[in-house]
Amino acid sequence: MQNSATPTHCPYCALQCGMNLTPAPDGTVEVSERADFPVNRGALCGKGRTAPAVLSSRVRLTSPLVRSEGTLVPASWDEALDRIAEGLSRTRAEHGPDACGVFGGGGLTNEKAYTLGKFARVVLGTSQIDYNGRFCMSSAAAAGMKAFGLDRGLPFPLEDIPKTGCVILVGSNLAETMPPSLRFFSELRENGGTLIVVDPRRTKTADQADLHLAPRPGTDLALALGLLHLVVAEGRVDEAYVQERTAGWEDARAAAMAHWPEHVERITGVSVPQLREAVRLFCEPEAAMVLTARGPEQQSKGTDTVGAWINLCLATGRAGRPLSGYGCLTGQGNGQGGREHGQKADQLPGYRKLTDPAARRHVAEVWGVDPDSLPGPGRSAYELLDALGTDIRSLLLMGSNPVVSAPRAAHIEERLRSLDFLAVADVVLSETAALADVVLPVTQWAEETGTTTNLEGRVLLRKRAITPPAGVRSDLEVLNGLAGRLGVEKGFPTDPEEVFEELRRASAGGPADYSGITYPRLAEENGVFWPCPEAPEDGEDASLDAPADDPVRDAAGAAHPGTPRLFLDRFATEDGRARFVAVSHRAAAEEPDDEYPVLLTTGRVVAQYQSGAQTRRVDELNAAAPGPFVELHPRLAERLGAAEGDPVAVVSRRGRAVAPARITSGIRPDTVFMPFHWPGEGRANTLTNPALDPTSRMPEFKACAVRVEAVQE
Ligand code: SF4
Repeated sequence: MQNSATPTHCPYCALQCGMNLTPAPDGTVEVSERADFPVNRGALCGKGRTAPAVLSSRVRLTSPLVRSEGTLVPASWDEALDRIAEGLSRTRAEHGPDACGVFGGGGLTNEKAYTLGKFARVVLGTSQIDYNGRFCMSSAAAAGMKAFGLDRGLPFPLEDIPKTGCVILVGSNLAETMPPSLRFFSELRENGGTLIVVDPRRTKTADQADLHLAPRPGTDLALALGLLHLVVAEGRVDEAYVQERTAGWEDARAAAMAHWPEHVERITGVSVPQLREAVRLFCEPEAAMVLTARGPEQQSKGTDTVGAWINLCLATGRAGRPLSGYGCLTGQGNGQGGREHGQKADQLPGYRKLTDPAARRHVAEVWGVDPDSLPGPGRSAYELLDALGTDIRSLLLMGSNPVVSAPRAAHIEERLRSLDFLAVADVVLSETAALADVVLPVTQWAEETGTTTNLEGRVLLRKRAITPPAGVRSDLEVLNGLAGRLGVEKGFPTDPEEVFEELRRASAGGPADYSGITYPRLAEENGVFWPCPEAPEDGEDASLDAPADDPVRDAAGAAHPGTPRLFLDRFATEDGRARFVAVSHRAAAEEPDDEYPVLLTTGRVVAQYQSGAQTRRVDELNAAAPGPFVELHPRLAERLGAAEGDPVAVVSRRGRAVAPARITSGIRPDTVFMPFHWPGEGRANTLTNPALDPTSRMPEFKACAVRVEAVQE
């Protein structure tokens, strides 16, 4: 065990706050601040401060478990890995490779995500791989690809936020999800800038805003169109910018002009004067930004909704200019890197498309396989989970807990139970692991080295700080052990740096080019922003295969500095222009009716993280957030005869959840809110609607029709 402080990063959200870890004499690990990391500058939220508690949790798994006569019992690693290899082989032999599914997570390091994608395609030969990051920001990714030709959470560093003039924050409660980031927004206001928050709830984040717009859940698209209508009507379009740097304006303009402010007010509940004020605040400063998060993205029209916000940026010249732009606040620790390197159903490493013959050739060459042997795109996350037990008979799952986090969770739980074979790698016996035939205990962030890519596109090195407990292995060791048992002896190294070296080659020349990033470099720098191509060898001319103004190719001979700011000269489309997308408002997949008259929206609380598999094992966090609740307006509570803390039932077409009432005038009377971190009776995702966005295949977590009932104790 190392005794000195190891600089590393938090295991949880996409901010990837810097922290130091120091082993203490009593065997625990102490967290201390790292003021040198520009993202959090020493600040940590409660989750980050208490993260080491999970390392030594008494419910930590330290032995593989196999199911025997219905019960999970300890087993050796050989027995557990043999059982998994047998289960997957049998399925493949009886039903074909696509009957084997692989499900990953947005918390897996780049090395693990890369190896998991390679394992699925090279060892199992299956197309059926996706990950829970699909639930997180895929609509923003799809909209970013359409508009800019590239998807990177933020196209600029967080440190640009205090220097801009106005930020519209759409559907993000940073005060609960990423508290250290709030500092950038307070500094924005101290510098004279303004913050507009769009959220159906008056959250702690909305409390800090200069203007809070509270649209009905599922109507952000109409809101963005209404704002664009006013931008046009008030003569605030940046015509020169639109002419020079964009395409498709006339159709987008026509679509926005069909959304009159009064009409938008009726759809959203946001008044016309508020709309006008938002346009004034956004358009008056020289620079401004729009940042979206899960609110607009987790909708059955999430891609169009984000597209509408991007249109607003483009029409006003607020994209690809200093201190201006559109960005997505990604959620999970490595949600960004996870989708860049191959665990998403349609992608190969380097953010390459699985359907692109050149991309297939390049990656197949790195992997030493025939390009034709690589399967095509598979199902998206919810569709994959929905196919369990029918088309997909066996599943290998890493770093995810869909029993709690998937929409229509009771159905997904039943699908998992119907599998012929389920193997789960995790650090604790999550609700999903408890259903498995084999459970593998794996190392945690402080016990292993690996890279992640935060919401800014900054690639970071998380260093191993302590020795893992006896009995656990890394996910890379698991995949190596399984590949060998399934007949692939080479190509699955267990050393993360060796994996990263291969990832660099696989990503070289792709949109997310990491080839110029190395472990030694990451150890010295506070992260490197992709794209970061490898510097040309001596004598090679870097300009040969790239435009002269390409910001990623202009450092011939020297290490490429990385690309903190994207699109300043050109967008990543073929002609360098951003694309407007003509979009129109449409209703949520499920609108309230007589039987289900209220809208449910879901989200997070500050002391828990995602499905809670880790944070629900931390006493301090449980004391702060012990369980689910139903947030409802006093008028709705009065109608039900419910007082604060009374149990209330929320019922949707998919099921029923019960949790104590939390009464607040900070929510709209037509809406209730539930956090989704808990299993059991109060599981919010029992209720949510898996209606998918047609482009991103992201489910509609943010709006479904429910009724609320008083519960007689
Ligand atoms: Fe960790 Fe996110 Fe909290 Fe930072 S904000 S300490 S990255 S959970």
